Amino acid sequence: MSERRLVMVPGPINYEPSVLRELAVSGLDHTSPEFVEIFADALGKLREIVYAGKEHQPVVIAGTGTLGMEASVTNFLTKGSRVLVVSNGYFGDRFKELLSRYPVKTDVLRPDTIGNGVEASRIIEAVEKGGYDLVTLTHVDTSTGVLQPIREVGKKLRNTGTILVVDGVCSVGGEEINLVEDGVDVLFTGSQKALGVPPGLAIIWLSPKALEKLKELKEPLSPYYMDLKKWVEVMRSYEEKKPVYFGTPAVNLVVALRKSLELILREGMENRVRRHMVLSEAFREAMKALGLGILASEKYTAHTITAVKLPGGIDAGTLVSFARSAGVAIARGLLKEVNYFRVGHMGPVNANDVIATIAVIERALYKQGYLSRLGDGLIRAQEVLARHEF
Ligand code: PMP
Repeated sequence: MSERRLVMVPGPINYEPSVLRELAVSGLDHTSPEFVEIFADALGKLREIVYAGKEHQPVVIAGTGTLGMEASVTNFLTKGSRVLVVSNGYFGDRFKELLSRYPVKTDVLRPDTIGNGVEASRIIEAVEKGGYDLVTLTHVDTSTGVLQPIREVGKKLRNTGTILVVDGVCSVGGEEINLVEDGVDVLFTGSQKALGVPPGLAIIWLSPKALEKLKELKEPLSPYYMDLKKWVEVMRSYEEKKPVYFGTPAVNLVVALRKSLELILREGMENRVRRHMVLSEAFREAMKALGLGILASEKYTAHTITAVKLPGGIDAGTLVSFARSAGVAIARGLLKEVNYFRVGHMGPVNANDVIATIAVIERALYKQGYLSRLGDGLIRAQEVLARHEF
């Protein structure tokens, strides 16, 4: 079996070889001066990619995005707290599932139809009525490819006691997030998507308001390993070049993270977001040229992942299996109610990757008898790409 595979699922992705090489470093322990420098540098760069100030604290913990999710809510809740979950799909609903294990009261707001986001005015109205301690938004729900705008809600909550938690697992490093302007109190992500680092790191950013709340809150519901007070102390110590221990940092992943952040900042976040926009537009337009629908409505379209609807007679499993056997990994849908598949286009993805993915989808649909000729999607994507710098 060839090792040359194009991974276009919505994470994990194909990583930059220079990032992967960093995983092979040896001779670094978590208290070595070299590692302390690298960790401190990575934390500084993490602030830059989301336009955070020095007063924001990024936290890096070994674990997956779900760990980030659980830590991001439980540290700000006590028994009886009230939470509003805004859910545009499977990952929004995960907040509800997770919170059902804790003694809190959770309300869920959903869009009118799958593929829409929730209007900011509806969220604000619910917040005004509900007296919530915490509100969660999923910036990009990976199950639907819906991007939920943050800023209007963030502005509303900024000067209140309510903590705004944003799931950025499928957006950080690919979509625009400005922690200060957006008014986000807690943002979390996993390493394996648009940040371009193999799975295994949960990353959380805390605003000054969130840091204050951490200090104030008596008896938060956070489990021991997820106690952000302890992790904040560890991060601050590393940044002061005086490492302290709580749980062993994932040394090699942190080194790889620093490298990936260096590449991201070399490209520049604005350029990176624009690249994601153009490549996702090329992909969406190609799918439309093949007669397929996009699950996310235009107003709420994400740029890191696209969910593509299939007509009744076409089996998503067959399509995905064909693509995999042809060397391109794409993903099935996550929601049972819709016949669809998903393609991730994030991180170091380029125009060639997108073209190859469209080509394999065309062949699969041609073989299943849905298309009578090949090339319409590719032509459309080429036109979009050629209008830009690609
Ligand atoms: N939130 C979103 C939006 C996600 O896409 C994912 C993973 N696909 C998660 C949370 C959970 O992350 P992990 O699988 O790394 O635990």
